[in-house]
Amino acid sequence: MADEQDHRIEGKITRAQFPLPDVTWPATAEFWAGAARDELVIPRCDGCGRFRWYPKPECPACAAEPYSWVPVSGRGTLFSWVVVTHPFLPQFADLVPFVPALVALDEDPGVRLPTRMVDCDPDALAFDLPVTVTFRPIAFAGVDGSVPAPMFVPA
Ligand SMILES: [Zn+2]
Repeated sequence: MADEQDHRIEGKITRAQFPLPDVTWPATAEFWAGAARDELVIPRCDGCGRFRWYPKPECPACAAEPYSWVPVSGRGTLFSWVVVTHPFLPQFADLVPFVPALVALDEDPGVRLPTRMVDCDPDALAFDLPVTVTFRPIAFAGVDGSVPAPMFVPA
């Protein structure tokens, strides 16, 4: 499905700052703006009050459209993770090993945030490990700029 977001189509990546996140994409711009203030914000439905993750224009629970980005505690539990030792993209070569993860937020464990675990021994990670947010820059060798992002450490 072609649209104005052609740079997201596999094989047609045209953003010079790839693989940095596109902080201007309206669906997630508030998420990145929150991270820049050291604040983890998640969209919550104005109709039923449930968190809406991933960000969607219509609430899957009540079908309401309005929503607000609200701060959450940054506490959660480790839902899943992997230790990446092989960089599939050259920009990640300096980062391996690193630990992409899904963190279930305390406010709603159904909200599973894609993130990275940092400052931890990967061998000591465990399912449901309590974790807490920290804000770190996403940066890549050879790519201009960096983007502050919520990452997690063992609590
Ligand atoms: Zn709703």
